[in-house]
Amino acid sequence: MDAFKKLEKVGEGTYGKVYRAIEKATGKTVALKKTRLHEDDEGVPPTTLREVSILRMLSRDPHVVRLLDVKQAQNKEGKTVLYLVFEYMDTDLKKFIKSHCHTGENILAKTVKSLMYQLCKGVAFCHAHGVLHRDLKPHNLLMDRQTMSLKIADLGLARAFTLPIKKYTHEILTLWYRAPEVLLGATHYSTAVDVWSVGCIFAELVTTHALFPGDSELQQLLHIFRLLGTPNEKVWPGVSSLVNWHEYPQWSPLSLSSAVPKLDKDGVDLLSQMLQYDPSKRISAKKAMEHPYFDELDKSNL
Ligand code: AMP
Repeated sequence: MDAFKKLEKVGEGTYGKVYRAIEKATGKTVALKKTRLHEDDEGVPPTTLREVSILRMLSRDPHVVRLLDVKQAQNKEGKTVLYLVFEYMDTDLKKFIKSHCHTGENILAKTVKSLMYQLCKGVAFCHAHGVLHRDLKPHNLLMDRQTMSLKIADLGLARAFTLPIKKYTHEILTLWYRAPEVLLGATHYSTAVDVWSVGCIFAELVTTHALFPGDSELQQLLHIFRLLGTPNEKVWPGVSSLVNWHEYPQWSPLSLSSAVPKLDKDGVDLLSQMLQYDPSKRISAKKAMEHPYFDELDKSNL
């Protein structure tokens, strides 16, 4: 670790602290993610190994944060500490949205479009390689303000999956971006859970406010139902068989454009396809990239 000059802490993820640092040999700024190891002497935790191997594979994509190196070091107690060395990104989407929210300024429509395209592209890449992120949220979408590039981070919760999709537990996902099938206790879920999160992030970019800011699983569902209507067997076959299904208040769907009044018609159409109740009817990240909403975007430099 002598190769780096460790500077300030820039964030805290699910598995450890993130520091800004300078690589002495090159003067390059990097992000060091120090992994919290368990007290026992079992070595590097599997969650970290999983993140490393998944990131190694995925960080070839320009919209996934680049893993530059993995360094092993000893702490004062002589225990092994693992540092993941990432390219440094100067902000994240949560801070970016907040800075606009505070000034009451909208994020420019063309910026929303570019960020959304990059997000869809990164997610499509992960899905094409059999990886679900499962916890997409503005906080773990890193950005470079100068180039306005967006990169997906915190793949520590991702799981490489092979079809058929295995059972997952769902206690670690953040509520606001959580897909209804996860909230309702579906045991088999798919890439569509990430697309739901992308839809929620899309709306948040447009309004600078979270679309469904629920503070409990029930409240989260009710937020969704109030806007999109209470789902039923007609719009979502099988919904009433999901383990967390109950009788809910009956709401009719509101017009989606009422939630995102500044979004154009194509944008509202894409959003509506991302927020389909039935996961099998939800648009894929790859298909989303081909949606007319992105037609006018200059994709050559993305
Ligand atoms: P994560 O564990 O990846 O979700 O990271 C937690 C926080 O640390 C993020 O929200 C960022 O604020 C910061 N962070 C993570 N990775 C980087 C990076 N490569 N460059 C700069 N900041 C980062």
